[in-house]
Amino acid sequence: MRKKIVAGNWKMNKTIEEALALVSEVANMVKDEVSTDVQVVVAPPALYLSTLQKYTEAVPNLGVSAQNCHQKASGAYTGEVSAAMLKSIAVEYVILGHSERRQYFGETNEQLAEKVNIALENGLTPIFCCGESLEQRNGGNFLEFVSSQLTESLFHLSPEDFAKVVIAYEPIWAIGTGLTASSEQAQEMHAHLRKHLAAKYGQEAADNTSILYGGSCNEKNAPELFACPDVDGGLIGGASLKSREFVNIAKSF
Ligand code: PEP
Repeated sequence: MRKKIVAGNWKMNKTIEEALALVSEVANMVKDEVSTDVQVVVAPPALYLSTLQKYTEAVPNLGVSAQNCHQKASGAYTGEVSAAMLKSIAVEYVILGHSERRQYFGETNEQLAEKVNIALENGLTPIFCCGESLEQRNGGNFLEFVSSQLTESLFHLSPEDFAKVVIAYEPIWAIGTGLTASSEQAQEMHAHLRKHLAAKYGQEAADNTSILYGGSCNEKNAPELFACPDVDGGLIGGASLKSREFVNIAKSF
């Protein structure tokens, strides 16, 4: 049975004082209010991961994620963070292939395949992001475009490794714009991706894969989105910076 997951991507936001306040509020509310069936994850800036873990560790269904890792094991890559470093401080998840990383840092599907490999080698759970631009959606071939992102970055994995991956469908036109995919649009893509996964790894593996929706998801639209049969939770940007709203989203199943 696939997991329900709500992950908050804090991006490049919050000072340490603000981050501590946010994580302690989230930890208390998750402990008291969120069903243990739902895995909640926070992805703060890498700098704060170890400090914030003291709060998340106390709550069984609350974990921490990095927002990225480098594709090489170690070496002369100034400013970068490796998967082994994340593992060494007991980080559990890593977001890979966010559209901002693809757009501003030129990350390619090929490079992301390497990042997925090194994350898995180090026991991290990749939250692999995919999604189309508005031009691609309007051009009509958006379903194929997004499934090809999965093919190119994930389909080299063995079934055992693939089973450890979480997918986040994030239409670029909905990220940080206030425009949300309708539940019909989200369900159409999620069902398409699950079918694509089934064709490669079999129906059981596809049915066991968590596919999250991301893109202006908030406490108002989460219940309708999460009610879609193929939507298994959300990757939340802006709304994850407010503890009450983020936890309300985690309670929206
Ligand atoms: C994101 O960046 O992953 C995201 C979904 O952002 P937002 O919720 O702000 O659209």
